[in-house]
Amino acid sequence: MKTLNLKVYGIVQGVGFRPFVSRNALALSVKGSVSNKGSYVDIYMQGENSEKLTDIILTSPPERACIFFWEKSYSDREEYTDFEISESEKEKGEIFVSPDIALCPTCEKELFDKNNKRYLHPFINCTQCGPRLTITDHMPYDRERTSMKSFPMCKECEREYYDPSSRRYDAQPVCCNSCGPKVYIIGKDIQDKEAISYARKALNQGKILALKGIGGFHICCDATNVQAVKRLRELKHRPSKPFALMFKDVREVKKHCHISPEEEKLLTGWQKPIILLEKKEDSPLPDILAPESKTLGTFLPYSPLHALLFSLPDHQNISPVLVMTSGNPHGAPICRNDEQALKYLSGFCDIILSHDREILIRADDTVTDFYRNKPYMIRRSRGFAPLPIVVNEKLKGDGIAIGGELKNTFCLAKKNLLYPSPYIGDIGDIRSFTVLEHSIKKMTELFEAEPKWIVCDKHPLYHTTRIAEDLSYKLDIPLVKLQHHYAHILSCMAENDFNSKVIGVAFDGTGYGDDGAIWGGEFFVCDRENYKRVASVMPFMQPGGDLSSKEGYRVAASLLEEENYRKNPHICDKNTYTVIQNMKKTGINTVLSTSCGRLFDAVSSILNIRQASTYEGDAANALMYYAQLCKDEKYLPFSPLTVEEDSLLRLNTTNFINRLSREEGDKISLSYRFHAVLSDMVAEACKIIREKYNINTCALSGGVFQNKLLLRLCVERLESKGFKVLIHSLIPPNDGGLCLGQAYYNLKEEI
Ligand SMILES: [Zn+2]
Ligand SMILES: [Zn+2]
Repeated sequence: MKTLNLKVYGIVQGVGFRPFVSRNALALSVKGSVSNKGSYVDIYMQGENSEKLTDIILTSPPERACIFFWEKSYSDREEYTDFEISESEKEKGEIFVSPDIALCPTCEKELFDKNNKRYLHPFINCTQCGPRLTITDHMPYDRERTSMKSFPMCKECEREYYDPSSRRYDAQPVCCNSCGPKVYIIGKDIQDKEAISYARKALNQGKILALKGIGGFHICCDATNVQAVKRLRELKHRPSKPFALMFKDVREVKKHCHISPEEEKLLTGWQKPIILLEKKEDSPLPDILAPESKTLGTFLPYSPLHALLFSLPDHQNISPVLVMTSGNPHGAPICRNDEQALKYLSGFCDIILSHDREILIRADDTVTDFYRNKPYMIRRSRGFAPLPIVVNEKLKGDGIAIGGELKNTFCLAKKNLLYPSPYIGDIGDIRSFTVLEHSIKKMTELFEAEPKWIVCDKHPLYHTTRIAEDLSYKLDIPLVKLQHHYAHILSCMAENDFNSKVIGVAFDGTGYGDDGAIWGGEFFVCDRENYKRVASVMPFMQPGGDLSSKEGYRVAASLLEEENYRKNPHICDKNTYTVIQNMKKTGINTVLSTSCGRLFDAVSSILNIRQASTYEGDAANALMYYAQLCKDEKYLPFSPLTVEEDSLLRLNTTNFINRLSREEGDKISLSYRFHAVLSDMVAEACKIIREKYNINTCALSGGVFQNKLLLRLCVERLESKGFKVLIHSLIPPNDGGLCLGQAYYNLKEEI
């Protein structure tokens, strides 16, 4: 009998795809079968409505599904008697894994419905929601290959699992109060609802709680209790870095934050990232949560356990706003099991609420800002990883890009699909190093990747370089080392699927330059094959190597001429200034640098905002905060904006910063002026480069472009000069996005 065969590739597993096909087939009286092949969903259709069913499948798939491509063919097969869901059979090919999906509204309703059998069940889920990536061991995505395999279904769950009319038909993590995982307080004989109630009581008493979630542990306390927040800051040695806040619901968010319709849609959607929302002036939330910041990192409960933490009916009222920060020791990856939680978190929490469903792959919370009504990613992880970035199908390759040393993520390339991993962390820490090695192995297996090449950063001392060298040796595949800032620009090009010449502006903290100097304020003329450095920040001597990336006053002391230092004695004592000037002269313990990030630190010091940073980006964030307070966008321009030096175009930054340091004015207008003039310099340099190379597209990348004020001012100036400007959206401009650029570079173009 004539049979239509449809193969659908994409996120089609664990999103209710097979039941969706089967339900529609029944409704259209189509006979046949549907099965998971690990790499795709394979559908056979017989009957006059087969084409119609195909249409429905391709045009209105389930909300969480992402179809990347499909194949249709016809054959002659034996007649089917009904429409069946066949057992998964594993076949080799493309592997698409769904990100984790936040608790859906229907499950949330059932969670608080006394008459439902999953009343108050902390692991309730359905075909439309629940953990995916973090519990998956192998593909195809079936219960026996997830961490749910240790929880055999009870009779009733099994019935729902096999019933096509049920919301849990074929839902792999399905479970209930009698057969599912259990929550408990570590070290105490307290389980289930009592454990959650115990944790709620502790929060009410101002205690600090560690909580096992979907992709790892959180540390949590009452955000309205200043004493509790203060204590957490002291214990975590985190004096000023803003904390993420989990709000009970969106109504509560609106009391404290401004929110646009686009932001609300993402905040309440299935991915539930942390969004930096502008704080309302009259919000009563204490400043200690996010000192000197105009925004609050805001998110909503995304697991049933979160919902119960806020709303368990146990006659206690708990704060509708909780601090909810990643449960990790400084610089190390988020903890994912009890052993790690006890080892690394007991020092800064009073009790640990855990559960016995294993987290197989870590996924930190995703953090995003918004720019022009689109997400502007800061950290891409849970809910987004491992969705691929799809580039032009003429570009193909199979390989691994290791990423950078800080904010590490790595990326698998398979044909024209690039899969950035969840967030790993700073690889300088030995624990992150181990996790990166483990995660590369895990993801390579899960995606059945067969890498033919490997890319890493050019920095000779990065731990990631060592991992890449080892891996290249073990797998016997070639290793490519790529310049840091060029990789930033490539990541922006890849995200915009742009494969032509651009003027790349990479503003960053630190990266290894081709001349051995520290780069970080670079202009390239480049395409996917080559780059040429055509301009940069004015080189300066960066004293004290790594220390000066934490202590901005050192760069300030290096930049300022003596008379200007005398006007700004607050940056350091006279003795220190002299020592730094001598270091400059002798070159001892100083390196030549064009880092833009360090300029922000230096200006922050000169304007007496921060002499040193307590976390990465602290001084620069505080400088942006004051600049954003500037109501009047008028400022004194500066000239010349650029100068020629050693046949390179240079931004006239050192002279400008010296001028700024002599000026009278408050820190608000002066910090705004710094942003504005720096943007003038960017636009001017791009204009000069355009005249010479005839390129009209600019790509902006690098960690400094997390600064939204600088981003806006640069984009506005460039656009007003007629440039097309490429910026990031779903891939971070910081080092978390490097891996994508590294992978993009190594794809080969089919002609
Ligand atoms: Zn659900
Ligand atoms: Zn059950």
